[in-house]
Amino acid sequence: MVNNRSCNFHTLFQRLTAQRYQNLVRRVSRVAGNRALGGLGASAVPFTLSDYREWLKTILGGEQGTCPCEYCGSYVTIETTVNDHRLPLSRGGSSGFENLAISCARCNNQKGAMSGPAFRDLMRLLNSWQYADRHDVLHRLETATRLAIDEQRHRAIDAKHNSVRYQRHFEQRL
Ligand SMILES: [Zn+2]
Repeated sequence: MVNNRSCNFHTLFQRLTAQRYQNLVRRVSRVAGNRALGGLGASAVPFTLSDYREWLKTILGGEQGTCPCEYCGSYVTIETTVNDHRLPLSRGGSSGFENLAISCARCNNQKGAMSGPAFRDLMRLLNSWQYADRHDVLHRLETATRLAIDEQRHRAIDAKHNSVRYQRHFEQRL
């Protein structure tokens, strides 16, 4: 019974880490592309999927382990943690382990493109405010991040449509 459960958990760990690693590669490649650095692509992530799994296992204390979110201190597991770059990639942050934080999804959303230390300072300040004020600011931050992600997604879809339209236009002229 116990073996069965840990076996299922191992499968879940493998699946989640593979997805997160793929997301990481995609994000790093996109920023590298935006910076027009050329030739960086997938190799811009300086560690392999198996390095990533070992790194997470060490920090969490095993595949079923748990550790505090670097920003709010709430405990996260492999199911609830997200990749967070302390200094965002868009601001020149490195894609290595030294810049990768263990964060809960909520903090990651609220943090947006802020640096880790600035976000921690903001959280400290907000914690000294009344709940309603703190809630209002954090809610705005989450909303702004969600809108920015939506906009990015729409821009990517538009770019794809435009390139198909251009291709058709070009073919008609041949
Ligand atoms: Zn958190």
